[in-house]
Amino acid sequence: MKIITILCRPGTMNNYAYLLIDEKTGTSAVVDPSEAAPVIAACQQHDTRPAYILNTHHHFDHTDGNLEVKQFFKAKVIGHDADAGRIPGIDLPLKDGDTFSLGASQAQIISVDGHTLGHILWYFPGSKAVFTGDMLFNLCIGGIFEGTPDQMWQSVQKLKALPDDTLFYPGHEYTLYGAREALYFSHNAPEVVAYLDNARHRLEQDLPAGPITLEIEKKCNPYLSASTKEEFLQRLQH
Ligand SMILES: [Zn+2]
Repeated sequence: MKIITILCRPGTMNNYAYLLIDEKTGTSAVVDPSEAAPVIAACQQHDTRPAYILNTHHHFDHTDGNLEVKQFFKAKVIGHDADAGRIPGIDLPLKDGDTFSLGASQAQIISVDGHTLGHILWYFPGSKAVFTGDMLFNLCIGGIFEGTPDQMWQSVQKLKALPDDTLFYPGHEYTLYGAREALYFSHNAPEVVAYLDNARHRLEQDLPAGPITLEIEKKCNPYLSASTKEEFLQRLQH
């Protein structure tokens, strides 16, 4: 599966939408179109008409482009059934554990409550890719708006259970925002310093900091490296 990163709302929210193209069938989808114009432009540039819009959660900065992209390409909108009343234009509500086929590429739906109730991961095991929305960012995690710290801890454990060689694709470019706490909690560990050097180098060239493997993220992200629930909760309150 080909994955193209699309920067949306640059300079303010720095959202990432993603264009996914199943290369065997040419079927494509867009993840979290936070605004329509850059997403439609990227689809046209890659000469594809997305059949689906895949949402990670209902927040406006992930779904604001849904209706326009849906209408433009006649795409179907897919999200968690708990968000069926909150995701604009939703056609197909899915549940935790459901699978979805994007052409020949299979996705698994993994429910990760915490940031919101109804947040999901889109995990493509065959492509070793997971789209994490506002649950996981580089070196940090999403704010807990609707769920509880306990639920976020459970969600982090689900994410950590995915294979180490999985690449993750977050909903925002927040690497430099997460850097301070990652350096603080790791006592400037060399792997965190190297992570940041690499990220800064890429960002200076207007490239996304990622994608990063979960193996590296589990070592460097202070919320993934917390070894106990108590440590996780302490870091949240810091
Ligand atoms: Zn959000």
